[in-house]
Amino acid sequence: MVTSREDGEAYLDWAASTPMRPEALEAMVEAAHAGFANPTGAHHAARLARRIVDDARDQVADSLGVEPGQVVFCGSGTEADNLAVFGAHHRRGGRVACSAVEHHAVLHPVEHLGGTVIGVDAQGQLDLDHLATICDDELTLVSVMLANNESGVIQPLEPVRALLDDLAPEALLHTDAVQAFPWLDVATAAAPADLISLSGHKFGGPKGVGVLVVRDRHALDAQILGGGQEFELRSGTHNVAGIAAFGAAAAAMAAERGAVVERITALRDRLVRGLRESVPDLVESAVDPVPGESPFHDSVAKVAGSAHVCFPGLESEALLFMLERAGIYASAASSCASGAQDPSHVLAAMGYPRQVAAGSLRLSLGFGSTDADVDRALAVIPDAVHQLAAAGTPV
Ligand code: PLP
Repeated sequence: MVTSREDGEAYLDWAASTPMRPEALEAMVEAAHAGFANPTGAHHAARLARRIVDDARDQVADSLGVEPGQVVFCGSGTEADNLAVFGAHHRRGGRVACSAVEHHAVLHPVEHLGGTVIGVDAQGQLDLDHLATICDDELTLVSVMLANNESGVIQPLEPVRALLDDLAPEALLHTDAVQAFPWLDVATAAAPADLISLSGHKFGGPKGVGVLVVRDRHALDAQILGGGQEFELRSGTHNVAGIAAFGAAAAAMAAERGAVVERITALRDRLVRGLRESVPDLVESAVDPVPGESPFHDSVAKVAGSAHVCFPGLESEALLFMLERAGIYASAASSCASGAQDPSHVLAAMGYPRQVAAGSLRLSLGFGSTDADVDRALAVIPDAVHQLAAAGTPV
């Protein structure tokens, strides 16, 4: 397993990005040599490059239970999300909507189009009553992520699909499965969706390669025009080596997912349990209510790698600074938003007050996480929290 970790360091930011799997690195180097030609060309060298892209497409299709012709390679998870929202709106007009806890790669396109942002409850589940009130023949796309990149909360898509089938028959269902893919059988969990986004660097593949699964390619208009690659949906010469690595990572991940989920669930549970024992007022998102409110009635499912906690009264930035000095790499919220002073829109949508949300810490584990990572986290984080609390960092 290849990581950038030195002894004594613990990388706990797998939701932000993962190291590449050996299978992916190997496929990338091999493809960079053997598939250097332009895959859209007509000669032998071009056909070799095209074969590499086609093989990777088959691997991705297999891991998702879709047809190879439904796999559209593009430049990132962000681009896949943008293609879904803008592409559907361009083709079909009408109104678009998304949940309030989407990644900004969905939220900002929907807001740009003047779409509706649908609320979630205190455990991050879509407010289906709110969705029902905006359903009509004019609703053309609804985007609901399968697993949230901050809280890790999994959103079942069947009830969303059922509602749309009843009340908004024109609406496509898009799901951002970027954070779900390493943990869930997306073939089943995203079966109700018409459009599914993935990103290579969240499961041991490369950065700068994404996929949008498009079940009906006539449902979208391309947003990047040119040579007509990717079934006319995404022009641009293929990133052959990156695509090969994406395919190899998807195949390796799908083969070992069951075992990884089991191992990482135990590690994550130990991490959260250890933090709770040392910091009793810790608030785990979607598991613990706002302090002082009654406990949640039911539990929600979260992806195995997610340990998203808040330390009420602390500032994440100060905590992250101390953790980094001790060799622990984590983030406060989504990686693109970290560093920003505003508390996460995800925690705000779930109703956590600023005093809680400002002290959020997203610890995320992945396929290469170890017992030693958790030991190190438990040796460092509680002390850092107690030191900051004693120093009275202002909120
Ligand atoms: N969607 C979700 C849920 C994500 O977590 C991310 C990455 O943080 C993205 C989309 C964007 O993917 P990419 O980094 O490939 O643009």
